[in-house]
Amino acid sequence: MNGGEGVTVDVILPMEKAGDDRARRAAVAEKLGISPSRIRELRLVKESIDSRQKNILFQLRLLAGVDGPLPPEEPLSRDYPPVRPGAPVALIVGFGPAGMFAALRCLELGMKPVVLERGKDVSSRRFDLAPILRQGTVMEDSNYCFGEGGAGTFSDGKLFTRATKRGPVREVYEIFVAHGAPREILTDAHPHIGSNLLPSVVKAIRESILSAGGEIHFNARVEHLLRSADGRRIRGAVCADGREFAADAVLLATGHSARDVYRMMLAEGLALEQKPFAVGVRIEHPQAFVDARQYHLRPDRKRPEQLPAARYSVTTTIRDRGVHSFCMCPGGFIVPAATENDEVVVNGMSLARRDSPFANAGFVVSVHPEDTESFRREHGVLAGVAYQKALETASSRAGGGMQKAPAQKVEDFLNGRVSSSL
Ligand SMILES: Cc1cc2nc3c(=O)[nH]c(=O)nc-3n(C[C@H](O)[C@H](O)[C@H](O)COP(=O)(O)OP(=O)(O)OC[C@H]3O[C@@H](n4cnc5c(N)ncnc54)[C@H](O)[C@@H]3O)c2cc1C
Repeated sequence: MNGGEGVTVDVILPMEKAGDDRARRAAVAEKLGISPSRIRELRLVKESIDSRQKNILFQLRLLAGVDGPLPPEEPLSRDYPPVRPGAPVALIVGFGPAGMFAALRCLELGMKPVVLERGKDVSSRRFDLAPILRQGTVMEDSNYCFGEGGAGTFSDGKLFTRATKRGPVREVYEIFVAHGAPREILTDAHPHIGSNLLPSVVKAIRESILSAGGEIHFNARVEHLLRSADGRRIRGAVCADGREFAADAVLLATGHSARDVYRMMLAEGLALEQKPFAVGVRIEHPQAFVDARQYHLRPDRKRPEQLPAARYSVTTTIRDRGVHSFCMCPGGFIVPAATENDEVVVNGMSLARRDSPFANAGFVVSVHPEDTESFRREHGVLAGVAYQKALETASSRAGGGMQKAPAQKVEDFLNGRVSSSL
């Protein structure tokens, strides 16, 4: 029955028994119609929690070794082929998740990745976060969004999406594990790395690129693109300090926070198109409140240790507008994610343990190009970017500056009132 590969079995167990090896073996044996003694080994493939009913259930996908052991688990490591002399050069602007994965892919394709990143390496970058929190000063090239690893480095590190357009998700998880992320991200239904672990993963990815012969330049803010003699091809980039980099291909992986890049592209005569996006607020709850609601607990009962900090997700339509919760961070923190001093933007993150007493989530509404019509005359195709900037500077004024975010109670927000206390 085993065939040396193991047999995949889906079982459902009550929370209290889900971690118990004997209960797992019994459930698998029953499903296969065999005696539990024939199961030599079990390996977790996927785990998800169903808390819709009071009796919380764990859905487990297990690989069973029947009458024999399972094949040993392959250690995940990635060896990228070394760059050959004369290999085509791909200039990658930005070393966030998109830039990092583009560089790895270039190595696989036999190209030499040369990365230009406006911010600092991840260790130096850390020191620029404290002044944001303590003095309310944002360094414009080194902050929660800019620097090695991009916005992803100090992001929450949630690795799942509601998007139905999916790429090779498993391969991405494996690359993270090969670079030091916990192996559980391969089995969790809602995998998460955590802001405390992400910097070392980012460093390991940097090492892979450098040791294969790629280049990474920090403090290298691209300000112009180089054109071929006939002006039709982009053949490189020029940094703010005058350094020039020529390449066979240029890839902009500059993320959504670099508004100066949109302006640069416009000035360079590239075709841009406005797209819909979403704006909103971030809502914070005591984690115990979310746990009580999602896990059907009495308010005075603590969450059982088998259960992670509870999450939620809300999607609805109000007056033909999509409204949804976004980037829900159980046991997390709200952080100041601005890239300029005259604005306030907040985002959410959490540590691997997710043990903060608060949960937070974005709550956003979709914005269509026609909503930003009043910005169009002055800003043209960048009307949406200007609208976003206007909201963020208004938010800064309302908070009184120094990166203090304006806050109010949800019920007051919904009723259009200022909260007299929090
Ligand atoms: C606090 C926080 C929490 C988040 N939590 C999650 C989460 O849990 N899960 C999730 O999926 N997403 C999360 N996100 C969003 C996620 O981080 C972004 O979607 C992701 O980082 C986008 O990747 P990117 O590479 O496209 O851009 P970015 O990460 O923005 O990277 C762009 C890089 O380009 C560099 N750059 C910009 N302009 C230039 C220039 N002119 N020259 C050179 N370099 C330049 C920047 O410095 C930056 O390093 C979070 C974001 C934040 C801020």
